[in-house]
Amino acid sequence: MKSITCGIIEGDGIGPEIVPATREIVSAAVETFGERVRFTELDAGFSALDRYGTTYPEATHEALSECDGWILGPLDTAAYPPPHEGGLNPSGECRSRFALVSNHRPARPMTHVPTRFPDLDCVVLRENTEGFYADRSLYEGAGELRVTEDLALSVGVFTKTKIRALMKEAVDVALNRGGKITFGHKANVLPKTMGLYLETARECVSGEAVEFESMHLDALAEGLVRFPDRFDVIVLENMSGDVISDLTAGMVGGLGIAPSLNTSVERAMAQAVHGSAPQIAGSNIANPVALTLSSAMLLRWLTRRRRLENGANAADLIEHAIGQVLAKGKGTPDVGGSSSTSQFAQLVVEEIAK
Ligand code: NAD
Repeated sequence: MKSITCGIIEGDGIGPEIVPATREIVSAAVETFGERVRFTELDAGFSALDRYGTTYPEATHEALSECDGWILGPLDTAAYPPPHEGGLNPSGECRSRFALVSNHRPARPMTHVPTRFPDLDCVVLRENTEGFYADRSLYEGAGELRVTEDLALSVGVFTKTKIRALMKEAVDVALNRGGKITFGHKANVLPKTMGLYLETARECVSGEAVEFESMHLDALAEGLVRFPDRFDVIVLENMSGDVISDLTAGMVGGLGIAPSLNTSVERAMAQAVHGSAPQIAGSNIANPVALTLSSAMLLRWLTRRRRLENGANAADLIEHAIGQVLAKGKGTPDVGGSSSTSQFAQLVVEEIAK
């Protein structure tokens, strides 16, 4: 039996509920095709802070570097102590240190999940390692400064290298979808930083068989809501991508069903778009769909880039099984059902076995 190694980190809040549910579903689907995922449990978040004095231990980083890919549970980063007291953002650390430049965030309606935007079917491709997220914009320290009591500054970073890597991925994704890239920016008010971003993006698509349009970010937000069927692949810098991908998630039914995959050429990390949802943690009602669909994206990546022969088939099976359970109205409460997290996972596993 073939197997691949997948790191798995429970994280905080609803993590200890949705991560085991995801693991169960992924294992069932992969094993249906005679293969196996060997999960390596790793520590990050509050449990790691208690044990190692940091939310992102070096031992975890080293172990991840040995894995074929990994699943990262949600993290309650807003509640962490400052970095000098061990509160590192594991998600940011992984993205920066493994150079996971591209964050793929697909959004499309799912059977039986209420949506006012049935025509939206897009992927937000978010740059993950620079842009306006100043907490990860410097080699050492953070690019956010409190200069005086009433003055704070934040450093945004844009490099041709990262934009080129993102655009390469964007072209690849577009060629495998509807062939259109919409590039969101604010070069009208930030001509140096966002201007570089736009200019480089244009260079990257020149000669490629894709349609390219650029839009000011504000107009893009309005356009998404008014003309959702106009969008295919939406490329955005880090912070804009974070915001717009929550918007697209909400348009198709909410964060409970919004997946994402962080990638470089060498590595991939599955991670739901949502956070640790502390308000519902411990209630066994969190929706595991977002993280499970993220893991299905990882399985497809592992088939393309590693030696998991049937990862794409297992991903198809997971998506089908989730669709079947949702179509019976047996989702978790956030999508209008009454199943608990564990009941939902069980139903999906039963559907996989059919
Ligand atoms: P959140 O995504 O955790 O929650 C937003 C809303 O969505 C809440 O009402 C929540 O209950 C609901 N929700 C989220 N995931 C759900 C799921 N799987 N099933 C059902 N409902 C779900 O965002 P927030 O409340 O702004 O942030 C909470 C914490 O998560 C903060 O510490 C924040 O920094 C962190 N965060 C982490 C990540 C990450 O780990 N990638 C992403 C976003 C936020």
